[in-house]
Amino acid sequence: MDLDELTKEVQGRYHRLVDQGSDPNEWAYAWRSEYNRGGFKAVDLLMEEVVDPKKCIGCAACVTICPVDVFDYEEEVPLDTRHDACVFCELCVDVCPVLRPVDNDLKDQIELKEPVKDEGFGPYAYGVYARATDKAMLEQGQDGGVCTALILHGMQNGTIKATVAGEEHSENPQMGSSMLQQTKEEVIKGARSRYTYQPNTLALVEAMKKDISPLAVVGVPCQVNGVRQQQFSSIRLDVAEWYSKNISLVIGLLCSESFTEKGIDWLAEDLEVPKKDIMNINIKGRVEIKLRDGREEVKSLKAFGKYARPACLYCADYAADNSDIALGGIGLDKWTITFIRTEAGHKAWQALVADGWVETKELDEHPIGKDLVKRLSEYKRNRPLPALMPSYSEREKIGNLDPKNYYRGWEEGSDAKNWVPLPPPPPKKKKKKIAAKPEGENK
Ligand SMILES: Cc1cc2nc3c(=O)[nH]c(=O)nc-3n(C[C@H](O)[C@H](O)[C@H](O)COP(=O)(O)OP(=O)(O)OC[C@H]3O[C@@H](n4cnc5c(N)ncnc54)[C@H](O)[C@@H]3O)c2cc1C
Ligand code: SF4
Ligand code: SF4
Ligand code: SF4
Repeated sequence: MDLDELTKEVQGRYHRLVDQGSDPNEWAYAWRSEYNRGGFKAVDLLMEEVVDPKKCIGCAACVTICPVDVFDYEEEVPLDTRHDACVFCELCVDVCPVLRPVDNDLKDQIELKEPVKDEGFGPYAYGVYARATDKAMLEQGQDGGVCTALILHGMQNGTIKATVAGEEHSENPQMGSSMLQQTKEEVIKGARSRYTYQPNTLALVEAMKKDISPLAVVGVPCQVNGVRQQQFSSIRLDVAEWYSKNISLVIGLLCSESFTEKGIDWLAEDLEVPKKDIMNINIKGRVEIKLRDGREEVKSLKAFGKYARPACLYCADYAADNSDIALGGIGLDKWTITFIRTEAGHKAWQALVADGWVETKELDEHPIGKDLVKRLSEYKRNRPLPALMPSYSEREKIGNLDPKNYYRGWEEGSDAKNWVPLPPPPPKKKKKKIAAKPEGENK
């Protein structure tokens, strides 16, 4: 059998496993069974199953794990530019979080902190609201500046040499690029959240090439899962070993969805300001915007929601379930809700607290935070897995690309098999023109 035929066979095997309703943790056997027989064109499988149907969430795990640099990365997806360089190692498919859920034994591999609680948003040992005690970190941070404090503290005491995170674009501060942060200034400058997609993990390649470690990684859940699959792939090539040995702390950011650049264009137009003047966006049930001139504006999340990134439909993790420490802005303004999940997270956290870098509050003081994390996690977890979802073009046909409400299947008691496409949204009713009120009556 030639390589192309073999690749089709593996793809057929994968489809059969998915269609027959096999345990999703077994889907990876479709390709793993080939590894010791010399491999197949895994890159073709990845492009045909994930990238071409636009199910790719952009985590970049395939790009950063490929030992022969087959991929470029543009517009939030991998391109197989150097396709013929492939050495059939299968790593790119094995690390892709869209092709399958993370392995069952990941929980053991990441060394959870005991005693482990699981209340529906990923295993954790304890949680608090926290904020940085340093004024600059708190001011610069998106919520409590805890992520920045964790990184800077680790860099100061030598447990972190560099951080895979991001930097904002000066002409459009709501867009960001990946960055390997190695100085305090770079960390502070990269703080705050860009609610668009920032492919942090691309910076892993630079860290590996320069052999810089120990590394911290900051990422939204899709990036955390990609990193974990790289660290613990059952295909133990050097590159996977490097990530496994040298990434010492994975900080996850809670995430319902991110937004497209068009959303920022829309905001700028609507607010009649240049994009570079939108200094910060925070989403707290509504869109809170800070402008360069100090003005604060609010927009409805429903209006901005139109610009949610369609690819986020293929993501079932809200609370960065597999991170060492998960951080979010939910519950209490200007505090970061913080969940410590693993031994590595616990160590970093205790050192931070012991040195007085953060102050904390019990979660029970504002139970709404944890309740919301539970609810939002449940909502995302009950989605069908991406392999069971329609492609982008199928969604386009029925006219609904919203990652939040496109499908059914998340209602209580239903499972992936009950998924049905929702009909296209009804046409907008034309608003009746209301005669202008005489001056003064509006007040
Ligand atoms: C796209 C997105 C969606 C989010 N959705 C939610 C949500 O639904 N609910 C919730 O409670 N919290 C959400 N968060 C998390 C929240 O915005 C804060 O990041 C978190 O509370 C930590 O705040 P902090 O002040 O401790 O972080 P800071 O100290 O300000 O540090 C923020 C870190 O995030 C990194 N970062 C910035 N933008 C991005 C990005 N786009 N992708 C990856 N890394 C980035 C920075 O490089 C920096 O390392 C979201 C964050 C992002 C980026
Ligand atoms: S990761 Fe391996 S299988 Fe995938 S493109 Fe690179 S060399 Fe080929
Ligand atoms: S989801 Fe991640 S690993 Fe999968 S194809 Fe996209 S970028 Fe690559
Ligand atoms: S919802 Fe957040 S974590 Fe999931 S794919 Fe979108 S950006 Fe990534």
